[in-house]
Amino acid sequence: MTNDCIFCAIAAHEIPSTIVHEDDAVVAIRDLNPQAPVHVLVLPRAHLASAAELDHEHAELWYRMLRVAKHVAASDGIAERGYRLVVNVGHEGGQTVAHLHMHVLGGRQMTWPPG
Ligand code: AMP
Ligand code: ZN
Repeated sequence: MTNDCIFCAIAAHEIPSTIVHEDDAVVAIRDLNPQAPVHVLVLPRAHLASAAELDHEHAELWYRMLRVAKHVAASDGIAERGYRLVVNVGHEGGQTVAHLHMHVLGGRQMTWPPG
């Protein structure tokens, strides 16, 4: 738990959010400002500032985040239609919350390139 980290606080149930999945290592919440009909954030309970901090020791955690994303896509009914997984890293990557998270976006046609 890192002080002043909003996603640490959400994972600890200290501030409210709409949680769609949680287990001992991973939490998934609905994005407060959804960019698609389905917009869920998958985050580790442990504080990692960004994907740039992932190392060998996080291999299982990363896999578990991907598995939760897949389950969220299935339970939100977008698994067959397709969806987008996004991880923004750093300032120019568009990262605004410095706690690793994966966006699961779907329910509409995605375009490329992203903005
Ligand atoms: P990023 O820009 O990749 O760091 O993504 C951060 C995401 O967190 C944005 O899509 C925000 O809308 C979302 N967000 C920020 N605060 C909250 C919150 N309290 N609950 C849910 N989503 C949030
Ligand atoms: Zn954090």
